[in-house]
Amino acid sequence: MREVRHKLAPLNPEFYSVTFGAGGSTQDNTLAAVIDIQQDRATTGIDAAPHLSCVGSTEEGIRDLLNTFKENDIRRIVALRGDLPSGMRDPGDFRYANELIDFIRKETNDYFTIEVAAYPEVHPQAESAAIDLVNFKRKVDAGADSALTQYFYNIDSYFYFVDRCQRAGIEIPIIPGIMPINNFSQLARFSDGCGAEIPRWLRKRLEEFADDAESLQAFTLDFLTDFTEKLITAGVPGLHFYTMNRIDPTLTICQRLGLIK
Ligand SMILES: Cc1cc2nc3c(=O)[nH]c(=O)nc-3n(C[C@H](O)[C@H](O)[C@H](O)COP(=O)(O)OP(=O)(O)OC[C@H]3O[C@@H](n4cnc5c(N)ncnc54)[C@H](O)[C@@H]3O)c2cc1C
Repeated sequence: MREVRHKLAPLNPEFYSVTFGAGGSTQDNTLAAVIDIQQDRATTGIDAAPHLSCVGSTEEGIRDLLNTFKENDIRRIVALRGDLPSGMRDPGDFRYANELIDFIRKETNDYFTIEVAAYPEVHPQAESAAIDLVNFKRKVDAGADSALTQYFYNIDSYFYFVDRCQRAGIEIPIIPGIMPINNFSQLARFSDGCGAEIPRWLRKRLEEFADDAESLQAFTLDFLTDFTEKLITAGVPGLHFYTMNRIDPTLTICQRLGLIK
């Protein structure tokens, strides 16, 4: 983990976010990692941003966690609903992320900078794109400072979403999420579950490289470098890389784009 951070440091990110298993499954690991990141902040200047999924949690449990974050000088949270692990039925005290944000603001005022999730291609459980946008706005109205999007490979979906947000009066930065591609079948499975579309032309190209990891890597690095460059040229407010602890693709893309100090 430290080694990963050390290698990513030349990118000079504003924060490292650390994922969290809904239902608390990886809560202890998330906590240990973010405390470590925050303790290094004095030398790195880089914040820790724990993901906090509320589904299956009680108000008391979240309050305790917020206090632990404060005791460790953690000032950012990626506030999420999460998904109940299979076998768990009780949603607990929070049904949706906007309720978590409400709670965080009531308990801690403006202490935390709160990031939330956004879905340019629509959350898979949403009744419609319009209702999903209304629900996204609930999170903003509850006090979100900024949004990180689900990853996407159809760049227009992001621009269209940002445009709709602006027309709905949403003014917070919406930072595109970029997922480097390491393994096509894994990505296809994951994308089906989270509602991210792999455009047909891209899927077809990736299928061609099923047995040739080197060519897959070369193709996806070219594709994502070009993709990220288009986002930067369009003036996006930031970039959020889903490194999944595999940092080389992210480093290569950023190196090619001259983003490494
Ligand atoms: C940047 C990012 C990071 C993530 N990190 C993690 C992680 O660390 N751990 C993890 O388990 N998962 C993570 N996820 C996945 C996320 O937990 C799932 O996508 C989850 O299904 C939804 O979480 P949310 O916070 O977006 O939920 P919400 O914003 O609550 O939305 C969930 C669904 O409910 C609807 N909805 C929202 N509010 C209301 C309301 N008030 N009334 C009725 N309907 C409503 C929405 O339209 C949507 O369909 C991440 C996703 C993203 C984009």
